[in-house]
Order: sequence, then structure tokens, then C-alpha cells
Amino acid sequence: MTTPTPSNMMRVFCIANQKGGVGKTTTTTNLAAGLASHAKRVLLIDLDPQGNATMGSGIDKSSIEHTVYDVLINECEIRQAIVASDSGGYDVLPANRELAGAEIDLVGFNERELQLKKAIDQVSDRYDFVLIDCPPALSLLTLNGLAAAHGVIIPMQCEYFALEGLSDLVNTIKRVHRNINNDLTLIGLLRVMFDPRMTLQQQVSAQLEQHFGDKVFKTIVPRNVRLAEAPSYGIPGVSYDKSSRGAKAYIDFAQEVIERTENGVQ
Ligand code: ATP
Ligand code: MG
Repeated sequence: MTTPTPSNMMRVFCIANQKGGVGKTTTTTNLAAGLASHAKRVLLIDLDPQGNATMGSGIDKSSIEHTVYDVLINECEIRQAIVASDSGGYDVLPANRELAGAEIDLVGFNERELQLKKAIDQVSDRYDFVLIDCPPALSLLTLNGLAAAHGVIIPMQCEYFALEGLSDLVNTIKRVHRNINNDLTLIGLLRVMFDPRMTLQQQVSAQLEQHFGDKVFKTIVPRNVRLAEAPSYGIPGVSYDKSSRGAKAYIDFAQEVIERTENGVQ
């Protein structure tokens, strides 16, 4: 049973997969730009010390005054650290390498896994969607993301080992749901970097549909060179080349996320 979600309620989604290089950041920046192109107010939170989502949104991570790190350790208010991505049409809570120290600096904090949630709650009237780009690890940073979120979107490549790490992540989501955040659900699995000419990818894709049913998003993001080029210009692929197959897929994906959210199909 699902209940409709009021469309004026802010939704917070983590884009997570502990496997590296599976398309988390590409999905976060392009979903943010896609939702913005559907007139939604979006905040992207970069929760990865690599700062790829920050750079990919056209923000120079070496010249920013405040970052998500300062927010997590109570050095500044979330409002002071948010900057606008002109190329993406959304706001960004940026990150840089400093964030790698947060795990240690948070040790002395009570409820240290709730620091991000407390910050996001302060801007809940400003955004329709908050998207959190998680690092490739099930770390305290990812835990802060999961504790703050209503749902998790898992981007994955349809490769032989893709399913292996999935059960760890699904178990982590269940544990967080049970112990820290009752709101948390798996929103869906997004197939990315898909190459339909590869029989193996088709087989894994079919397996995913069999096991996870409507938890698998209908949209499939193809392998597309324009999506890979865009970050070096500091522009999400959706804005960089609107006519590319990759951009179109992410625009469709944004629409699918809006429909699922508004219909409460989560
Ligand atoms: P990390 O775990 O290091 O944070 P990630 O999961 O965030 O990585 P991305 O950085 O989004 O993954 O993608 C990894 C690489 O694949 C990047 O070079 C990106 O440009 C490229 N890429 C992502 N999606 C696509 C796509 N659909 N087509 C072509 N290249 C892609
Ligand atoms: Mg990334």
C-alpha cells in the first residue's frame, strides 16, 4: 500500500552505490539539472571528498568559502555554504578534500549520523528535491546521507558483478530504516552506461527486472560520450547537449522520478 505524497513536500534522495565509478555523480548532476528543467527547485549535496559533483556543476572547489564539511561540524549554517550552479539551474552544497576529515572530526559528536539531516531540515521550505551524491563507500558520510533521506536511488551498470554489492547496500538500507530513519525506502535501480549490443548487459538487465520488478526504473541511460565530456566543462550533460541521447534519457528519468514521487510509488 502506498499513500500519495503531497507535491509541495521536499523529498530527499541519496544517490548511492558503494561500488566506485558506476555513475552516481553523473546521475546526481543530471537528475538535478533534469528536475530543474521541469521547474523544480533542487539542492544538490556533494557528500564525496572527491568533489566531482561540485566541479561537474561548474563550481571551482578550490575557491569556495564554505563546504558541506563546515556544515557537518557546525562551523557554519547550511544557508551560508549553499552556492548556485548557473550551468545546472540548481543550488549546490559543495565539497572538497577537507570532507575526508569529517569521519574523524565527528567522533566526539552525539548523534553524529544525524548532522546532515539537522542541516537539511533548516532549508526544507526552499526546495522540492534534495539530491545527495554519496561517496563510493558505506561510511559515516554515506550514513549521514541515508539518515537524512526519504529514499535511495541506486545507479548500476548491467555487468556480471553488479549484483554482488547490491545485497550489501540493500541490507544497509534495511538496517538504517530499522534503527535510524523509518522514512527510508529504496526508490529504485537505474540502469546506466547501457550498451544494448552487449548480450550480457541485456541478460543482467532482464535479471534485475525479474528480481526487483517495478523497483527498476523504466528509463535506461545509454553509454553516451556527451555525458562523459560534460563534467570537464563544468556543465551537467543535460544542459551541455540537450539533443544527445544521454541528456534525453536523464530528462525522461527526471520525469519518471517526479511521477513516482507524486504518485507515492516508492
Ligand atoms: P565514484 O564512485 O568515483 O564517485 P561515480 O559512481 O560517481 O564514481 P561517475 O563519476 O558518475 O561515477 O562516472 C564514472 C565515469 O563514467 C565518469 O568518467 C563519467 O563521465 C562516466 N560516465 C558516467 N555515466 C556515463 C554514461 N551514461 N555514458 C558514458 N560515460 C559515463
Ligand atoms: Mg562520484
